[in-house]
Amino acid sequence: MRASDLQKLVIASNNTGKIREISHLLGPLGFEVLPQSDFKVPEVDEPHRTFIENAIVKARHACERTGLRSLADDSGICVNALNGEPGVLSARYAGEPKSDERNNRKLIDALANLADRRAHYYCVIVLLRNADDPQPVIADGIWHGQIVSDRRGEGGFGYDPYFFLPDLGKTAAELPMDQKNRISHRGQALARLLARLAENAF
Ligand code: IMP
Repeated sequence: MRASDLQKLVIASNNTGKIREISHLLGPLGFEVLPQSDFKVPEVDEPHRTFIENAIVKARHACERTGLRSLADDSGICVNALNGEPGVLSARYAGEPKSDERNNRKLIDALANLADRRAHYYCVIVLLRNADDPQPVIADGIWHGQIVSDRRGEGGFGYDPYFFLPDLGKTAAELPMDQKNRISHRGQALARLLARLAENAF
């Protein structure tokens, strides 16, 4: 395949790990994956109450700024006993500036006297052909676990040291990266996205 045959796809994220992972999966399908920083696209506000709305805002913003196709994801952790919080506010649960440590402290304090520790990570991915695309390709994934009070593991990021997987007897931060990527909310969403693309959904 020649470089000119590739379909350019802008990733509406500045997270290099995410971009590498998406590039690895979509490159073989004929996409040239480009970070939005290549086009100096600034981060956009995520004002909505649902993950899907925020993902669409991010993807549409990248399309508008670049004139190219765009992919965005939005994710977070939802805790049953907290009625789904932190949810879309996961990155900034304890306020600005973003801090994983303060977010985790706030979460553990909120659950201190609660027996129900069930939680799940959620991720949704959106692919838009252009800013006016009425029919985005959408794929999502859910990863169930429990919140523990004592941190375990050094891998991952965010809430991972407190996100315990009973079937594996480990927290997400104790999993090797490739194992986490295979089974996580984001891994599931990406696998579903690939399946949709293989059906010629794009
Ligand atoms: P974003 O979608 O990359 O902006 O992630 C939103 C926030 O959700 C992150 O800042 C984390 O706080 C949390 N989060 C999402 N996915 C994960 C994960 O795989 N591990 C730990 N925290 C996550």
